[in-house]
Amino acid sequence: MPNTKVNKILEEAYARGAEAAKNGKVATYIPELGKADPADLGICLCLPDGTRYEIGDTDKRFTMQSISKVVSLALALEHCGPKEVFSKVNMEPSAEAFDSFVELDLRSNRPYNPMINSGAITVASILKEKITINALLEYTRKVCLDPDIDFNEAVYKSEKDHMSRNRSIGYLLESKGIITTGVEESLDFYTRACSMNVTARGLANLGVVLAMDGIDPFTGEQLMPRRIAEVVKTIMLTCGMYDGSGEFAVMVGIPTKSGVGGGLLSASDDRLGIGIYGPALDEKGNCIAGRPVLEYLSEQLELSLFDKADIVDALRKAEANERKKAEKESLRVLRHRGVKTFLPFNVKKDK
Ligand code: GLN
Repeated sequence: MPNTKVNKILEEAYARGAEAAKNGKVATYIPELGKADPADLGICLCLPDGTRYEIGDTDKRFTMQSISKVVSLALALEHCGPKEVFSKVNMEPSAEAFDSFVELDLRSNRPYNPMINSGAITVASILKEKITINALLEYTRKVCLDPDIDFNEAVYKSEKDHMSRNRSIGYLLESKGIITTGVEESLDFYTRACSMNVTARGLANLGVVLAMDGIDPFTGEQLMPRRIAEVVKTIMLTCGMYDGSGEFAVMVGIPTKSGVGGGLLSASDDRLGIGIYGPALDEKGNCIAGRPVLEYLSEQLELSLFDKADIVDALRKAEANERKKAEKESLRVLRHRGVKTFLPFNVKKDK
């Protein structure tokens, strides 16, 4: 049953996002992405019992872009284990843009994290040795609970024709011995992964799967090992919004990953998943509507990882129950001893 309170909150979040979208710009460095409508906006929430709340363009398809870094990382961890993956890619936030190679060139022999391009191209180079790109597609369909996800050929070709920067990163990785075989194949795997066509609804599904530590809310099946979901969420929180991750964590407090196609994937731990589509971007390449939308939802629905209001309430209730039990017990003892007592108002007389 639709909950009107949640729907009202969603409407207000949408209005705030739509206002912010007026100040954003769609990505054009991949020409095909420039065709998106900057006014598009869709928000979907998916709860652990499978209930969804949606508003706007929630079933419009768009390319996953950097959100694919989340599924690639999860699958690389599953196939290769954390030791191998993190020997090649670090897990530290980066202060540079998503397609920067400054830190990699000057400061480190390991990409800073798997959420920026240098890290994700490295993950692709590991993954391509173990699985085919179609296996990654199948896995993405599974964890997004969306069998209709496919590659967007037009966006894939458009990016392949305009990828000098990623190609530079690929060859820099090779020059440092981080990619040892097939730079072009790694770039192709990475670009194909970015071109998977998803919806905000599918991202909300993936969000709740992550929020519930890998469990499919509809079937109860464990789709992803628990520990992998935990690692992925942690890296989303610290690195998912690139060089805007710190401020985003403070203001929103929900592990989130963005993509230049306009998508946002959020996993509010133990609570719910959120998928957003809004192709108007801010200067860091993140969906510009996302920040006001998620800030509002986080505040209204207590979604921040650090919001303990519900736990505090539960503790208070438990304390009150304990107190009631103790009062009853002392009355019982006193009565047993034949002492006449006056019952406090909040304790009902035993029958
Ligand atoms: N395919 C894009 C790129 O490599 C993904 C970037 C993004 O979504 N931030 O540039």
